[in-house]
Amino acid sequence: MNGEATPGIGRAVDLLRNGASPLDVVEESIKIVESDPSIHTVGYNSPPNALGVMQLDASCMNGDTLETGAVGALEGIVHPISVAKEMMKRLPHVMLVGAGAQQFAKECGFEQGDSLSPEAKAAYEAWKVTNRKEPLVSMFNPTIGIGSHGTVICLVRSATGSFGGGISTSGWDYKYPGRLGDSPVIGAGLYVDSRYGGAACTHCGENAIRTSLARSVVLYMKKGATVREAVAEGMEDLKGLKGGFQGQVVIYATDKDGDYFIARRLQDVGSCMYYVWRDDMPEVVHQKAEYLGT
Ligand code: ASP
Repeated sequence: MNGEATPGIGRAVDLLRNGASPLDVVEESIKIVESDPSIHTVGYNSPPNALGVMQLDASCMNGDTLETGAVGALEGIVHPISVAKEMMKRLPHVMLVGAGAQQFAKECGFEQGDSLSPEAKAAYEAWKVTNRKEPLVSMFNPTIGIGSHGTVICLVRSATGSFGGGISTSGWDYKYPGRLGDSPVIGAGLYVDSRYGGAACTHCGENAIRTSLARSVVLYMKKGATVREAVAEGMEDLKGLKGGFQGQVVIYATDKDGDYFIARRLQDVGSCMYYVWRDDMPEVVHQKAEYLGT
């Protein structure tokens, strides 16, 4: 799990120790983060979009079956990760956005609520006074990122080698309404395949989408790369981007045997931390992603 997972990592380890399935570990640990007001980029108490509306993105994947579920721009539902997971059981589809995602969540009985906290609403109102322009498009430049952002990711490998992965975010602060990042795009922000390993990405989702990054990293492992080589290849793919906004990207990857490598592209973010726990470790490791160049 990554730095945003601080409130959920303990629960993830407990569940793993008790033999929970990878996707149950993913859902339960990410739900804790989605509810925790100290995490300002996932679920409750995160910044809304440019219109002041909370739109949340999440996805999950089963590495044994390659089943996936994803929701984008979901409004009025507290736990997008649970909605994404439920899709895998209930629908022949793999992705729902906006009003349809909300309808599905309501029909399945998921907790409703506005994740826009009073604190985040007040911050938005202050931002709006000096920053919001009409039309909204006039606030944006294709080569400049706005606001900050963050995501919680969870990659799980069970003792028997089954992978599960999940990811949840509110995306970029004050983003253009309807904007989807890499988190709900399977293959960009998340991909797991128990035969080869798993990968997840955070930070500039647009760059991860443009390079199909998570799937690419898993594919490099399939073709024989070590986990470190696969992440380095993913970084090389990012360097091939021309034009548009070039932002920081962090890649988290684990191979089929549980070896891992986490790296970031572009200097400037001091807090790219992550957590790792394996049953041969006495305690959870908390360390910094390696820097792999510009
Ligand atoms: N990748 C997320 C997005 O683009 C944001 C982040 O992880 O910082 O929505």
